[in-house]
Amino acid sequence: MSAPTPTDEPIGAPGRAIPIEADALTVAYGRAPAVVREVSLRVAAGSSTVLLGPSGCGKTTLLRSIAGLERPTSGTVRLGDRTVSSAETWIPPEARNVGMVFQDAALFPHLTVAQNVAFGLRRTGDRNARDRRVAELLELIGLEEFAARLPGTLSGGQQQRVALARSLAPNPAVLLLDEPFSALDAALRTQLRRDVRRIVREVGVTTVFVTHDQDEAFVMGDTIGVMHEGSLRQVGTPQELYARPVDRWVAEFVGEANIITGDAHDGYATTVLGRLPMIAGAPSGAVEVLLRPEELRISEAGVSGTVEHVDFFGHDARVVVGLATGERLVVRIPPRLGLSPGATVGLEFAGHEAAAWAAR
Ligand code: ATP
Repeated sequence: MSAPTPTDEPIGAPGRAIPIEADALTVAYGRAPAVVREVSLRVAAGSSTVLLGPSGCGKTTLLRSIAGLERPTSGTVRLGDRTVSSAETWIPPEARNVGMVFQDAALFPHLTVAQNVAFGLRRTGDRNARDRRVAELLELIGLEEFAARLPGTLSGGQQQRVALARSLAPNPAVLLLDEPFSALDAALRTQLRRDVRRIVREVGVTTVFVTHDQDEAFVMGDTIGVMHEGSLRQVGTPQELYARPVDRWVAEFVGEANIITGDAHDGYATTVLGRLPMIAGAPSGAVEVLLRPEELRISEAGVSGTVEHVDFFGHDARVVVGLATGERLVVRIPPRLGLSPGATVGLEFAGHEAAAWAAR
């Protein structure tokens, strides 16, 4: 273990990513019940973690606590080898070397793009070094041509890229982004997600990104922390969360989910769709089994059901099939199958292994 740095030394160093750690962090506003409850999270140096959850679950509060904009009731926050928040320690936000990007780009309207990016550098280095850094960042965000423009003449997506460049200019030890694309329209969001992911990876800064949008979380995060009512329900890669959610709530929040009951023994669950292999570590006894729509297949050999509804999307179709036993299951099928409501079909599990958890 490295020795703790003296408290007056700056946090992080340019070009050296540091981890973020929250340990048993609880945050409350006034006397109201805590909105972040005993959350422990570790973001590896140089990696990107997304906090995903519905509105009001405490994502922003957790992010602001890492930045030092909220003071936790208990627990600790560490940036690299420095404790910045604990019962004994409090490092104010301006001394944490944290870059932040918010929903609203909040650029200075009377300053040019270059002046906005240079804003965080105004007390550092000489003029030439600052100019070089601004040019480097404008190139990174692909807005070299826009250096002399005023923010009001830029699109929303361009403004957000400038906000990102401004927060990266002083080489922050960590970068925190709070729903930075939510004010943008869908097409722009998709483009900007890719841009920001590329930029953040290129810079190599440790990043926490808050969103309530599952698609966005999957694209942006190496790791995702799913939050619900102030707690972290599950932390994992997008693949793990989708294929191995720990419970029904996470399963339904990160994608469309068919959940059926089963009786599990020896790695298999007996269900209305037959005996299904379960993922390693699944419990025995009464279970709930997760079947993603794309893991089901229409097949003559399958269990009989009736098509109740079809949504045609071009690249595929979403079909609701009602079984005689009462379950209604959603299936994703190739568009060429061309099913219509009322058709009798067979349905079978075509996945590898199904996730399952103990039924309540
Ligand atoms: P959203 O995506 O809607 O911002 P969130 O998951 O980021 O939601 P928070 O903004 O952290 O959630 O809010 C969590 C809870 O804390 C909410 O119930 C909210 O009303 C409350 N809250 C947030 N800020 C304050 C504040 N300054 N004073 C009192 N309560 C607050």
